[in-house]
Amino acid sequence: MTSMNSLMWFRQDLRVADNPALVAACQFALQHQGKVRAVYIVTPSQWMRHDVAPIQIDFIQRHVNLLAQSLAALGIPLDVLHLEWFSDTHAALKDYLQQHHIDAVFAGSEPEINERSRDNELIDQGIPLTLVDQDCVLAAGKVQNLSGDMYKVFTPFSKKWKSIASQKAIVPLAVPAPVAAALTLPSTIEFNYQTRSSEQWAAGEGAAKRALEQFLASQVADYQADRDFPALEGTSRLSPFLAIGVVSSRQCVAAILARYPEALVDDTCAAKTWLNELIWREFYRHLLVAFPRLSMAQNFNELGKGIAWRNNSDEFTAWCDGQTGYPIIDAAMRQLNQTGWMHNRLRMVVASFLTKHLLVDWRWGERYFRQQLIDGDLAANNGGWQWSAGTGCDAQPYFRVFNPMTQSSKFDPDASFIKRYVPELARWSLKDIHEPKTVNVNDLFAQRQGDGYPQPIVEHKMARLRAIEVLSALKRGQ
Ligand code: FAD
Repeated sequence: MTSMNSLMWFRQDLRVADNPALVAACQFALQHQGKVRAVYIVTPSQWMRHDVAPIQIDFIQRHVNLLAQSLAALGIPLDVLHLEWFSDTHAALKDYLQQHHIDAVFAGSEPEINERSRDNELIDQGIPLTLVDQDCVLAAGKVQNLSGDMYKVFTPFSKKWKSIASQKAIVPLAVPAPVAAALTLPSTIEFNYQTRSSEQWAAGEGAAKRALEQFLASQVADYQADRDFPALEGTSRLSPFLAIGVVSSRQCVAAILARYPEALVDDTCAAKTWLNELIWREFYRHLLVAFPRLSMAQNFNELGKGIAWRNNSDEFTAWCDGQTGYPIIDAAMRQLNQTGWMHNRLRMVVASFLTKHLLVDWRWGERYFRQQLIDGDLAANNGGWQWSAGTGCDAQPYFRVFNPMTQSSKFDPDASFIKRYVPELARWSLKDIHEPKTVNVNDLFAQRQGDGYPQPIVEHKMARLRAIEVLSALKRGQ
């Protein structure tokens, strides 16, 4: 029998555990007495064009290096192909397959429209590519309503998701057995791209697994109570790992079920709220596949086209820089700028402020987030922005405008989070922090001027009414 070789193409699944495409590549080579190789494709122009955050690219680079080491132990060499454009993929893969006598390519499927079109074209052009669904616990298209369509409301989606998942064995795959003798440790892989250090985040499948286990052991039961308070370590902080597939959603759900076997069927289960967040992740990925226009930055609610956004660029810059004069907004934006991550409650609050108080198009904010986030993810980011702006699927109604003062006093009552990121306010009273007002020079608060902190960029009551009027363009859609 002539031997046949396989290739594992890593994309948003930078892990060796629970990686069905990798397992399929190994099985193919074993069955055909061949060898397995792996590639990761680096496309800097694509990253630049799509505003991928330099901190996320650094995080990916670190994981590609760790992956190369894990694969070397399995006897699988990893090559990094540097391409100028996405469209060069076909030529590069074709050459690579010829050079290494490869007969079959395996990869995890991706939900974004560009990635899906690229894969379909590669298959049409004769690349022997097999796509494996591994991006979600339940693949897009598997959770449908009675008419066979994608749900447009989260709650029935999640009910159906749980009912299907509860009938399945959710068991992550083990790391495949070595296919050949271990290789010598690979030399360091450099992307040759301007990155920003992600060292403040631990890297690796081991680190992700430990974070997951620790969260489940000590925090998940309090998640419902703690998750809205940015000063607490109340959420898992697994998003950087999930976004690039260092850990899979199936591993997360299986870990929940190992501790809480009733999680899928019992609504009083302590892990219920966290499980729901993982289902939100799946909901947005399924939506991306069902409604490709979402990948192209279009409104889910097409009436969104009629919104007369103000798009004032000075106000947008103040928002980006954490200089709006609303301490909770500014602390959140500075957390993003300094760490590449922002707490979920604050993502909702700053997105509402930008799209409603300032009436800046959600696409501006979505893009800025992408440029900064270590966990940037098209599906969740688009979902979160359109939810906040009111243009999305099962979105926050357009007339519900978060009051930044109430959000501030409710979710950071002692202002400890705010003071961490806005040190200018160290001497301010809690009342002043939670209820910033335009300063009259004769006012006691005039000291603020000396603190170098700006006055509120917009007055809340006026902004709220203005937002409701302008966003009522969405009315017929809700
Ligand atoms: P946990 O609370 O521990 O949740 C566990 C996991 O569930 C998360 O890691 C994430 O994968 C998933 N998840 C949680 N909440 C959501 C949600 N609302 N939508 C989809 N998935 C969710 N998340 C991203 O991963 N990437 C983004 O680019 C992103 N952009 C966002 C933009 C806006 C405007 C909003 C409102 C939310 C956005 N989110 C995004 C969702 C959410 O804020 C983050 O997933 C969460 O803050 C990550 O922290 P964590 O890992 O501690 O989450």
